[in-house]
Amino acid sequence: MPKVSKTPEVGKEIEAHCKPCKADTVHVITTIKDDVVKKVMCKACNATHVYKPPVDSEEAPKPKRGRPKKTDGPPKVRRRRKADWGTLMGKIDQSLAVDYSMTADYGEIESINHKKFGVGIITKILAEDKIQVVFEENTKILAQNWEEQ
Ligand SMILES: [Zn+2]
Repeated sequence: MPKVSKTPEVGKEIEAHCKPCKADTVHVITTIKDDVVKKVMCKACNATHVYKPPVDSEEAPKPKRGRPKKTDGPPKVRRRRKADWGTLMGKIDQSLAVDYSMTADYGEIESINHKKFGVGIITKILAEDKIQVVFEENTKILAQNWEEQ
């Protein structure tokens, strides 16, 4: 912080923060102790108060430690997908699951057999060429209607 004047003197003008004015205004030094400005008088409102360094522009109330607003919502808890898979598995006929192939069209099919992930339930047709499949381990986005070139 740059000091305005090297040695403060009673009667000298100094910029200080004035509470009544809620602003940094010009003050006159009224009390000095050990070369430190103790009290000042505001030239704008004539109030004498303890010297407070300028705050920089408008009233900016210092935020107290901690957050002013508490967000006391619990952290995001997502349901485990495994449970979904189990539920979904109970609803489908596993014997109808078709072997997965990215070139096939799964618009009318509810479950697939994936070489790596096992039986999966198609929960969404995301796009012409994309399906969302819930596997025991995870939900995956797989390709469909893929044209091999
Ligand atoms: Zn004032």
